[in-house]
Formats: sequence, C-alpha cells, structure tokens
Amino acid sequence: MKDFHCRDAGMNCDWVARGSSNQEVMDQAKQHAQQAHGMQVSPDLARKVEGLIHDESSEEHRRSMSRH
Ligand SMILES: [Zn+2]
Repeated sequence: MKDFHCRDAGMNCDWVARGSSNQEVMDQAKQHAQQAHGMQVSPDLARKVEGLIHDESSEEHRRSMSRH
C-alpha cells in the first residue's frame, strides 16, 4: 500500500489517501484537493504530491507519523 498525507503537502489537514499504486493515490489526492481545499492540481503540484507518496510500511512513513 502507498499513502499520501495531506499534511505533508503543507496543509493543516489530517486527510490521508491510500492506494496500491501512485496513480491511485494521485487520483484521490487530486479529488481531495479540489473538493476539500478548492485547489486545482497543477502539473507542478502533482509532481510535488507524487514525491510525497510513500509506502505505508516504510521507514519514511514511520518518521512522518512520529513527526505529526
Ligand atoms: Zn487536505
């Protein structure tokens, strides 16, 4: 599983997207950005978000969880 924390993108938001692939997570994140934050996802923002997607079980994930 991959996940993306909205908070990692700098938002004050606890929303998390989960999916089996980056594409799946990206689709959810795009929808969430539009519906919850009224943001259009530009190619720049999409690249940023993609860089923040990580494996749920990874060391990076545990670090990001403890940081929150
Ligand atoms: Zn959010």
